Amino acid sequence: MILVIAEHKDDRAKPITDELLTFAQRAGRDFGQPVGIVVLGSNTSSLVDQLKDRRIDRIIAAEHPLLAEYNPDSYVRALKPILEQEKPFVVAAGHSTQGVDFMPRLAVSLQRPLISGCVEYEKQGDRLVLTRQIFNAKMNMKTIPRGAPPYLATLAPGAYPGDEVETGGAPEIVRASVELPDGPHGRRVVERAEAPKGKVDLTSAPIIVAGGRGLKQKENFSIIFELAEALGAAVGASRPVVDAEWLPREYQIGSSGQTVSPKLYFAIGISGAIQHLVGMQGSRCIVAINKDPEAPIFKVAHYGIVDDLFKVTPALTKLVKDLKGGQSH
Ligand SMILES: Cc1cc2nc3c(=O)[nH]c(=O)nc-3n(C[C@H](O)[C@H](O)[C@H](O)COP(=O)(O)OP(=O)(O)OC[C@H]3O[C@@H](n4cnc5c(N)ncnc54)[C@H](O)[C@@H]3O)c2cc1C
Repeated sequence: MILVIAEHKDDRAKPITDELLTFAQRAGRDFGQPVGIVVLGSNTSSLVDQLKDRRIDRIIAAEHPLLAEYNPDSYVRALKPILEQEKPFVVAAGHSTQGVDFMPRLAVSLQRPLISGCVEYEKQGDRLVLTRQIFNAKMNMKTIPRGAPPYLATLAPGAYPGDEVETGGAPEIVRASVELPDGPHGRRVVERAEAPKGKVDLTSAPIIVAGGRGLKQKENFSIIFELAEALGAAVGASRPVVDAEWLPREYQIGSSGQTVSPKLYFAIGISGAIQHLVGMQGSRCIVAINKDPEAPIFKVAHYGIVDDLFKVTPALTKLVKDLKGGQSH
């Protein structure tokens, strides 16, 4: 079985969950393995409802009051017996704040290998090969986990398209019994504080219009906001834009900002430095506007416009508005 650990918040599956399922469905087909998903929580019924139209063989609902809030200790304690019983081939979780927190603990507790931040898999004979990016995404490293499964992996957000998850399944829904010790064990959640965000959560925005130093000055960023508004997109920025205080920190995309993987990403006046690329190269379609034909952004762009952004961006906004019949939404 290729077993996914669902990630969710406020009773909604997070986008990474469908990305993990896409991976599991593809790997499951290649390796002749069924697809399973574990949902941990205090009441999982609405999550199970959301997931049951996906092509999944088995949904394992693991409920316990102590699983109401994410806690790495409870996750590991709840998951270990499930994995011992299911004996999966691969266990996949998101390379997210949660995934990078509990998966290493789970790997240690099971004494099994963990390959983290994977972007791709392949099948070599019967062996699973997982690719991860290293040195700030300058190189790819292929890893073949050794020994007996399960092999644990965290998948980078955007590595697999969540909107290509296959539906039409009739999953078996299994309730796993979860025993967690009463009282304090390890740690407890005292408070959940949301990170300050802009108007839109960049990590889940389907379209992002990002601007860089090529905009020259803060006031010029209005053309980025206008295109974003016409497209119904979120606005992002490269680091110099944030360092110059044209926009607040939460707009920054890249190695020291947010990692995004929208369906459509506009890089406008952004050169494509590696620290920016690592935060957006998982985007499905990248459109770059830059007057320098040698700009590295064109190496990752699916569509490139070599021209002055001050000419192209307003023209694009007008085109989008015209196509929408003069409506901006
Ligand atoms: C430790 C570390 C962490 C970092 N983290 C990040 C990060 O998280 N995110 C990030 O973005 N950067 C990060 N950086 C900075 C990164 O190295 C680059 O300096 C930065 O990404 C460059 O931003 P830029 O592309 O907007 O600017 P530039 O590199 O200056 O590029 C501007 C581009 O605009 C084009 N341009 C100019 N005028 C026009 C015009 N009129 N029409 C069309 N095109 C035009 C130019 O040809 C150029 O390609 C980090 C650096 C370090 C050392």
